[in-house]
Amino acid sequence: MHVSWTEVVKECALQSWYCGLDLCNTFATARHLLAQPYPILEVVYSAPAHTSQLFPNVPPAPGMSCAGEDRSIYRRGARRWRKLYRVNGHIFQAKRFNRRAFCAFCQDRIWGLGRQGFKCIQCKLLVHKKCHKLVQKPCSSEHVDPVEIKDDANGESTLGRASSVRSRADPEPPLPDTPPAPAPAVREDLEPGSQRQYSLDDFELIRVIGRGSYAKVLMVELKRTKRVYAMKVIKKALVTDDEDIDWVQTEKHVFETASNHPFLVGLHSCFQTPSRLFFVIEFVRGGDLMFHMQRQRRLPEEHARFYAAEISLALHFLHERGVIYRDLKLDNVLLDHEGHIKLTDYGMCKEGVRPGDTTSTFCGTPNYIAPEILRGEEYGFSVDWWALGVLTYEMLAGRSPFDIAQAADNPDQNTEDYLFQVILEKTIRIPRSLSVKAASVLKGFLNKSPSERLGCGESGFMDIVQHPFFKSIEWEMLEQKQVVPPFKPRLEGERDLANFPPEFTDEPVHLTPDNDNVIADIDQSEFEGFEYVNPLLMSLEDCV
Ligand code: ADP
Ligand code: MG
Repeated sequence: MHVSWTEVVKECALQSWYCGLDLCNTFATARHLLAQPYPILEVVYSAPAHTSQLFPNVPPAPGMSCAGEDRSIYRRGARRWRKLYRVNGHIFQAKRFNRRAFCAFCQDRIWGLGRQGFKCIQCKLLVHKKCHKLVQKPCSSEHVDPVEIKDDANGESTLGRASSVRSRADPEPPLPDTPPAPAPAVREDLEPGSQRQYSLDDFELIRVIGRGSYAKVLMVELKRTKRVYAMKVIKKALVTDDEDIDWVQTEKHVFETASNHPFLVGLHSCFQTPSRLFFVIEFVRGGDLMFHMQRQRRLPEEHARFYAAEISLALHFLHERGVIYRDLKLDNVLLDHEGHIKLTDYGMCKEGVRPGDTTSTFCGTPNYIAPEILRGEEYGFSVDWWALGVLTYEMLAGRSPFDIAQAADNPDQNTEDYLFQVILEKTIRIPRSLSVKAASVLKGFLNKSPSERLGCGESGFMDIVQHPFFKSIEWEMLEQKQVVPPFKPRLEGERDLANFPPEFTDEPVHLTPDNDNVIADIDQSEFEGFEYVNPLLMSLEDCV
């Protein structure tokens, strides 16, 4: 068998990327298979010499970690845990209905906005939320036991944190008087004559640039204008799991809102094919912070301050518009060609949250989940400030504050539950090398009590603005992009992909042909009205 090292390296990187395994272990396994010495990471990333600090040694045997290896900075997927309600053998889950639906108890219509409807995940019975406790009819498919459920005192059940549950459905009951989600801007808003709907044929697919928990992201060119965009592609089969359509709608709404802020990735258009959904969004050329952190290990305080301040402005903008972001992490923070940040990925957002409102979905990326979520409490915007604390800590220290690397060889301690216990209970140690102001801002954001956390008090965002760590920041200038970023990504030309991992950019760019069997299982009516064109960008394009 002849396998080139480049192939092995690529395969190992991919495996470790997705499985959350460490690279050294997958390399070690490959080395034993091929029985030859192997090059450490330079090949993967064509990275500068300092990358080897992250993976400094050769592991003694497959499955063992390298001496001094830091496992805390890897890409990990965001997750949502479903909340379920058990009554009379039914297992109800909240649902927003796109189609006409009627309550099996009172026979009245269940209206679509919000989540007034409950659907039994076993027998598919539909009822109003207000009627679900009154249902007399037992579940007709009670024998099906697809999920592990713990009943609690009031009949509400929370799905165990089993790894098989990876639904991103947002099952929260609606907040009281939640304003209806903003209607997507429709094409009729466009000037007559400029009505245009996009399809895959309008774009040339150039390269794969990223992957997340659900999406594949491509760099594409709009043929007509030759402009470059990012295209986020989501397979419908992944979102047809009953409620999942909700997060697609939310992601679309927040993309629309985001189009008005310099530090948020905006939307160009949305369209669909029978098998996929496409978000055409701004292409952000400098790559994500995960990519840069994996090369630089830790950032100078000045750099971390700049990023944390721009991220604070982006979060504050979302909060003011009733959106909790809920998935702040290194992979979702992009750098533009000048070095300003842009947040992307709104699939975990919660919309319609007014000051003082709370919500309760158990979701996020494990390392960044705030203690109040883990404690099962109702929460609000506070969870985003916690995540900013985790991310700022990672930038300054080069590792997670909940580094469980030492525990990795002990199977009991290498679990999500253990990580959650550490987040809930461990006193966070701030490296002594950090300044007093940096230590203070980290302690402020990483306060386990949301009411005492920086950014969450009476004066909210102003407490962040006035914190000594941010003293040198001129906030108004910063928001207008008038402050020169501390680091400019190396880029040769508009289409340079040097800041995207070769594991992605080397992937074949084509989309696999539609499979009829898969499409047959997709309820296309769930995706009606997904098409969208941003009128603002359209008129810009027409100026070209
Ligand atoms: P998911 O919802 O599956 O997590 P993301 O939207 O986070 O998907 O995209 C996955 C990755 O693709 C990101 O971590 C980032 O590296 C890259 N990416 C996403 N959007 C853009 C963009 N607009 N410009 C450049 N790269 C992007
Ligand atoms: Mg993501």
